[in-house]
Amino acid sequence: MKTITLEQPGRFTASEIAQPAAPGPGEVLVRVLTIGICGTDLHAFEGTQPFFTYPRVLGHELAVEIVQTGDGVTGFEPGDRCAVNPYVTCGTCAACVRGRTNCCAKMCVIGVHADGGMCDRVLLPAKQLYKCVKLPPVQIPLVETLGVGIHAVGRSAAQAGDRAIVIGAGPIGLSVIEFLRLAGADIGVVEKMPERLDFAARHYGLKRFYPSHDEARQEEPSMLVFDCTGDRGSMEKAIHLLQQGGKLVFVGLVNDSLSLFDPDLHRREATILASRNSTPAEHHRVLDYMESGQIDIGAWPTECAAPSQMGERFPLWLRREAGVVKSVIQWS
Ligand SMILES: [Zn+2]
Ligand SMILES: [Zn+2]
Repeated sequence: MKTITLEQPGRFTASEIAQPAAPGPGEVLVRVLTIGICGTDLHAFEGTQPFFTYPRVLGHELAVEIVQTGDGVTGFEPGDRCAVNPYVTCGTCAACVRGRTNCCAKMCVIGVHADGGMCDRVLLPAKQLYKCVKLPPVQIPLVETLGVGIHAVGRSAAQAGDRAIVIGAGPIGLSVIEFLRLAGADIGVVEKMPERLDFAARHYGLKRFYPSHDEARQEEPSMLVFDCTGDRGSMEKAIHLLQQGGKLVFVGLVNDSLSLFDPDLHRREATILASRNSTPAEHHRVLDYMESGQIDIGAWPTECAAPSQMGERFPLWLRREAGVVKSVIQWS
């Protein structure tokens, strides 16, 4: 079967490998349908993803179809279409025991720490799968993306009417906006790329939209500030958009130190929250919202590409020049 490996930064190679064995107890053999590409994949390609090792088969945002189920697997039949929870957690660390599996101390992400879905067929633990009835394969990988958004908005405990601002209108920023919208928050956005700013403002009917922090600082500060950039400069400046007593949520991640001027923090009595990944319960809620149409990401500027185009498209997606918010590989 066909597989594509990221051999080293900047270089994918295609090869033929043996099919996986029949699924063992609790496992399923699946056929890969589509693969979402996110910052993690792009940074691995660029060579800037922290703690990443090569060679690696990428692919952690997956839509799959069940081919065969192993002993003891219930609730799945061959032909079922599923989303995949890529976060394999230990179940025994302090975080897992408290139900905070999203920050498991021994987290293994399929397609990041272990080989992922860029191949025709994969064996997966059945407990990592969620059956999708209505969603088209191109939207299913977004369950993971939206999971990051639902978790971040949950961290902020956003209430109806809360004044919020989201910095960065890529897929994570848009995911945060979706759940702030469901919470009934008053939403603003900061995004330096004109195409992205324009899409977010138009699509969500936002009245507060700014191309820079400096312009956003001209307005009244927000109770909730979400930084979805993963950019050190943006994360350090985000506190200036925060109201007294407000909450600043770092949804993006930067492999660097952050420096904050303590009086900025102290004067506001600011709460700073990190937000990492999401939990299975949140994935189920995301799926319910998507399948019921309460969240519809059909209009997000998405580019579908063939596996053979990855070597050429990854550098473009990395530079974010194409006005594409989300990229999806049509694997089969
Ligand atoms: Zn991802
Ligand atoms: Zn754990």
